[in-house]
Amino acid sequence: MQQSKLFTKTKKETPSDEVSKNAEFLIRGGFIYKEMAGVYSYLPLGLRVIKKIENIIREEMDAIGGQEMKTSILQNKEVWEKTNRWDDKEVDIWFKTKLKNDTEIGLSWSNEENFTSILKQYVNSYKDLPIYAYDFKDIMRNEVRSKSGIMRGREFYWKALYSFSKDEKEHNDFYEKMKITYSNIFKKVGIGHLTYLTFASGGAFSKYSHEFQTITSAGEDTIYVSEDNAIAINKEVFEDEVIASLGLEKNKLVEHRGIEVGNIFTLGTNKAESLDLYYTDDKGNKVPAFIGSYGIGLGRLMGTVVEVLSDDKGMIWPETIAPFKIHLLSLGEGEAVLLEAKNVYEKLLASDVEVLIDDRSGISAGEKFADSDLLGIPYRAVVSERSIKENGIELKKRTEEKGKIVSLSELLNLFTSKI
Ligand code: ATP
Ligand code: MG
Repeated sequence: MQQSKLFTKTKKETPSDEVSKNAEFLIRGGFIYKEMAGVYSYLPLGLRVIKKIENIIREEMDAIGGQEMKTSILQNKEVWEKTNRWDDKEVDIWFKTKLKNDTEIGLSWSNEENFTSILKQYVNSYKDLPIYAYDFKDIMRNEVRSKSGIMRGREFYWKALYSFSKDEKEHNDFYEKMKITYSNIFKKVGIGHLTYLTFASGGAFSKYSHEFQTITSAGEDTIYVSEDNAIAINKEVFEDEVIASLGLEKNKLVEHRGIEVGNIFTLGTNKAESLDLYYTDDKGNKVPAFIGSYGIGLGRLMGTVVEVLSDDKGMIWPETIAPFKIHLLSLGEGEAVLLEAKNVYEKLLASDVEVLIDDRSGISAGEKFADSDLLGIPYRAVVSERSIKENGIELKKRTEEKGKIVSLSELLNLFTSKI
């Protein structure tokens, strides 16, 4: 892609009501646009990151037998009344509206009811289970506060998978698999080293749920981390009994701020009972399906990566989710430079390397470097009069101070071997 054609431009200013680092860098870099508090649109660069995260999650969900679908955003009141989650007294984050004929409807704030009602049509016998179904979806929540940029939106994009098992044993096996799958996802997006499986309050069925908490000063939660065991406890369940049951010692746990990038829950049979999702077992008994729920907020994940991997100059994207692999800067207006930059760009494109070329004219080298640092593309390749004199391209990682000269064929080899 050519930066001269990219409609977004970098900015020096952030909206004055925006206090979080993720929103500041993402808005300044032209990744997102702030519509209003807690509501953001994703611009071309930001959408490229979201799509990469989405693909990583999709691969992992498919690998453990997930079937992707897409549930509706408009919600049927009658369905949610059956599980007692329609009333604002029970769920205080609903956005609700009305049809022309005054029928009340809601905008999706969660998914369990949808999936369970849909599956009721298809599940009869024990042979139909287990089922693992998921979707990516825009979720609406009337959150009280939204000061954390895209980490807490009133509208946000998530992945939710629901497991429908025959019994608790089958559920537990899958639940354990999902813990590993989630760790893989957070490793792949580059925050594995800061993300902990965290014991949190459970809800109706189980004593605990499990959150995946990433350590960051921008986090909204307090967690107590055991480095040795690579687990943590959320403050909400931080009690002597819980600490002991996990075999941990209180004085070895370190307090941190954390953000919940994902969570996994055992829901049990309640929802299946309320929404009538029963199957006939091999002895002819009617049994409710055993349900688990597994969420990840993609926007929150992207915001978290910015919070934990940036420096004072801007973002630093891991290669797996970066909008482009290489930022190619063409410095100076001389014909030799323009021709060589174009040549390098075309060779990279022909080799399927994702490259953004800063081909803007009338922009100083200093500004191009500053913008490149802000956008945080993992590699920066510079074509200038100097690099041409040295018979190559100056290549450096976003995290390195100094680059080195490589030839075009070295550059191509380096990046085609990475694909
Ligand atoms: P939190 O405790 O942070 O309010 P939650 O427990 O309500 O989140 P879930 O309803 O289980 O979260 O949603 C699943 C995932 O969706 C969360 O783990 C988080 O990654 C993401 N998420 C939840 N609320 C938001 C939000 N307002 N903005 C962005 N992402 C969110
Ligand atoms: Mg939570």
